[in-house]
Amino acid sequence: MRLDVLSIFPEYLDPLRHALLGRAIEKDILSVGVHDLRQWASDVHRSVDDSPYGGGPGMVMKPEVWGPALDDVADGTGPAARAEDLASANPHLLRPQHDDSDTETQAEEDSDLPLLIVPTPAGKPFTQADAQSWAKEHHIVFACGRYEGIDQRVVEDAAQRYRVREVSIGDYVLIGGEVAVLVIAEAIVRLIPGVLGNRRSHEEDSFSDGLLEGPSYTKPRVWRELEVPPVLLSGNHAIVERWRRDQALLRTQAVRPELLAGVELTPQDQSVLDRG
Ligand code: SAM
Repeated sequence: MRLDVLSIFPEYLDPLRHALLGRAIEKDILSVGVHDLRQWASDVHRSVDDSPYGGGPGMVMKPEVWGPALDDVADGTGPAARAEDLASANPHLLRPQHDDSDTETQAEEDSDLPLLIVPTPAGKPFTQADAQSWAKEHHIVFACGRYEGIDQRVVEDAAQRYRVREVSIGDYVLIGGEVAVLVIAEAIVRLIPGVLGNRRSHEEDSFSDGLLEGPSYTKPRVWRELEVPPVLLSGNHAIVERWRRDQALLRTQAVRPELLAGVELTPQDQSVLDRG
């Protein structure tokens, strides 16, 4: 997968080359280009923003800067062609892994247009289902807004060269899109086959089956007088799986009850919830 990010603070995107994402870069599963938007600013001050039409506080990001920047990143031309890709921060992490998923092929994406993700609090909420779908993309471009956001015509115009998605990472307002891009990119990249050592670890995560994941435990068996639930030591796989399902159901009911409406419940699931 190819990721390109446009931002006026390229250094904010440095985490994209650390840990599992860095390893994905080393394994050639991922390549990342981070582009300073100001390269496309033409005035002496390299300004990227201007006052809003209709008045009001704050500044709006200029279409004359964003338009050519998105054109170049889509076509691999101009300053986008000269950008160096991010190198992994952790070359030492590349060592043999027990990876059961390297041989899988990525699903073919039927459109040739790259996907443009524009983070904005006014966008559609980003979900795990989006991450699963976008993990099959070949080229994703992220446009990081600042100030009051990007002139809306940029999004309209970009639809000629991209499939455009305006997405929000939650009902709150950040200062800029960079942190949202880190969130979205990490959620996507970990689902690309070969990025996580063991594919089961994301198949059993929260939201994969519509439920929140239940609690997890490791050694020691007793810590500060708190014991690991004995069922986990039983060695009986079926009983452990049932217990995990029950915990996931009960946690979801307690914390995010609205999620249960989208889950197919067996009669046994329903009776666990009724008792909970
Ligand atoms: N005026 C905008 C509004 O009220 O919808 C808020 C702009 S915000 C201060 C600046 C930038 O931060 C946005 O263009 C977007 O890139 C990013 N941003 C802020 N909150 C976000 C969120 N919840 N999800 C995704 N991106 C967000």
